Amino acid sequence: MKKPSSHPIFTNAVDSLEHGIRMYRDDTYPNAHKYAVLAVYQAIELFLKDALCRINPVLIFADIDKQVRDDSRTVGFKEAVARLANSSVHIASESRQSIERLQKRRNMIEHREYKPSGDDCSCMADALKILYDFVPQYLKDECLADYIDDDLLTELQTFILDYETLLTEAEKEVKELTSVPPGDFGSAVTECLHCGHATLVIVGKDNNDYCFFCRRAVPMTQCCDCSCYYPAEMLEEVSRCPECLSAQCEKD
Ligand SMILES: [Zn+2]
Ligand SMILES: [Zn+2]
Repeated sequence: MKKPSSHPIFTNAVDSLEHGIRMYRDDTYPNAHKYAVLAVYQAIELFLKDALCRINPVLIFADIDKQVRDDSRTVGFKEAVARLANSSVHIASESRQSIERLQKRRNMIEHREYKPSGDDCSCMADALKILYDFVPQYLKDECLADYIDDDLLTELQTFILDYETLLTEAEKEVKELTSVPPGDFGSAVTECLHCGHATLVIVGKDNNDYCFFCRRAVPMTQCCDCSCYYPAEMLEEVSRCPECLSAQCEKD
């Protein structure tokens, strides 16, 4: 279930991102990729502005030497990147180049014409990598995945970002985290109910149970009989898992 956010720019960014994903996958809507490029680029600019706003809301305005009003001009991509760098929030130069490439396509659409290109999809995918490096960096202990519609998140991972690469990276992180010298106890790993991968590490990140594929905290609880891990919400009222519960009923 997606969570509401108290940051209006963030909410706006996620909405544009979700629209972009829908347009990216829609092969029936006329010129769907034109709208996907516009929405994805808009989402990226909004994530940058959200990062600035969380540092100081005035930073989103272009001219901060004059009094700012609600309708004052806001910063563009280049200014936002520079201001973030000055505040020690960095965007990898590779990501910056990918976003600039997408920006050119967006400008072409906004100001001149839309020429469909065979690599529109890879152009969007490259720019969206910031969802995996830059966005988690400024969200700190919040997880983007908690705020995106579950189905759209799966589409994002499956069709836009390279699914196999994401999974390999997640598995690598889990392995690094759980490999311990013989004799020591490593963190427990269990299957995540959201993605179905064995990439959920108990107390894996910032004291939370965390799925390294979904990139989100997934609170888990142990069944008091069999010690298997289950989603905390499932064992909220009963401390036993369904299997142990039915075994007990048979006994009683
Ligand atoms: Zn997962
Ligand atoms: Zn059990």
